[in-house]
Amino acid sequence: MSDDSNVDRAKYDFKKAMQEIVDLRGRGTELISVYVPSNRQISDVQAYLRNEYSQSSNIKSKSTKKNVMGAIESIMSRLKTYRTVPENGLVLFCGEIPTSGDQTRMVQYVLEPPESISTFLYRCDSTFYTEPLLDMIVDKKSYGLIVLDRSEASIGILTGKKIITLKNFDSLVPRKHRQGGQSAQRFERLIEIAAHEYFKKIGDSATEAFLDKTELLGILIGGPGATKDFFVKEGYLHHELQKKVVDTFDTGYTDEYGLKELVETAKDAITDMDLTREKDLIQKLLAEIRKADGGLAAYGEDEVRHMTEMGAVDTMLLSEGLRLSRLSLKCSNGHVTKVTQKSHVEATPACKECGSSTDLMEKMDIVDELFELAATMSSKVELISDDSEEGELLLRAFGGIAALLRFRVG
Ligand code: ZN
Repeated sequence: MSDDSNVDRAKYDFKKAMQEIVDLRGRGTELISVYVPSNRQISDVQAYLRNEYSQSSNIKSKSTKKNVMGAIESIMSRLKTYRTVPENGLVLFCGEIPTSGDQTRMVQYVLEPPESISTFLYRCDSTFYTEPLLDMIVDKKSYGLIVLDRSEASIGILTGKKIITLKNFDSLVPRKHRQGGQSAQRFERLIEIAAHEYFKKIGDSATEAFLDKTELLGILIGGPGATKDFFVKEGYLHHELQKKVVDTFDTGYTDEYGLKELVETAKDAITDMDLTREKDLIQKLLAEIRKADGGLAAYGEDEVRHMTEMGAVDTMLLSEGLRLSRLSLKCSNGHVTKVTQKSHVEATPACKECGSSTDLMEKMDIVDELFELAATMSSKVELISDDSEEGELLLRAFGGIAALLRFRVG
């Protein structure tokens, strides 16, 4: 599996867990949320929780007291399995959720968030405290950034709202006032050679920074004056990167601040690209389907599954609105079969082979399962949100599962 789809998959799992957690309500003020940043010692957190535990013995309501203390205990024992806090920190949610009558069940979630947590937080409330995590589930699109003029250049990357500076360098192009003794012509020539080397170096750095990042949606280029346009026009970028250039934008600076300026100036272009991306994928799918021979497209679970197994799928398009599970079943006659059914359905269907009742061997979210299938055939997977008209179409008309193909299978 490529790193990209691992990241997508982790994000999807996180997103799904978040959707569950947001809806949970406790009976009283008894749901515990703990946020642990990576620089915090586990032993500090345990000490903090021990103190909260003894404080909660003062809670008046008997059941609330019992539930709060139970949740803290559960979190403390879970924390014991960690020697250090993971890179992005750790978030723990624990508490009793009412089921039926006066019954409750304990839920516990331990999440390693996709982005780092900066502050320690302990909260006891009737809901879990999820606000700091909600922003993290927004899909983060990435763009390459280059700002340059003849004296300085910076290369960076925009991921979500974060700008990361990757490289900054000054040029060695001499200034245009000549030292005594050199002929004007020779000096001009030296300047042009130095400038050419400098632009080449920017191009090479861009290749190094961007070429293997297939998730980059585009490259934005900024700087004062005409140098940036010259750089693009003269082909100093690798041809694969050249294709991703969105446009050039005027900025006053060419340092770290220039990268910020570039993102600010290109804001509208970026929003448009994000919006059109999913739209384009679905439009491409529709265009293929409309072709007389069915084109390079497949849709519906069975067909997409089959095409993937044949190695024919280039990109799988999966709706984020899919609520299906893939079940592995075993019947009393020993038949092992797989079926897909709605995730909320608890009962297992009868055996496809003989009709007798079945036992559940494994239940997997279908998106997870298709991610794995796609990975075995090096197919890409794109999760399509169901917010847009196109996303809704994918879900309604194609059951939320479609694919763009590498080749047609006869
Ligand atoms: Zn059977």
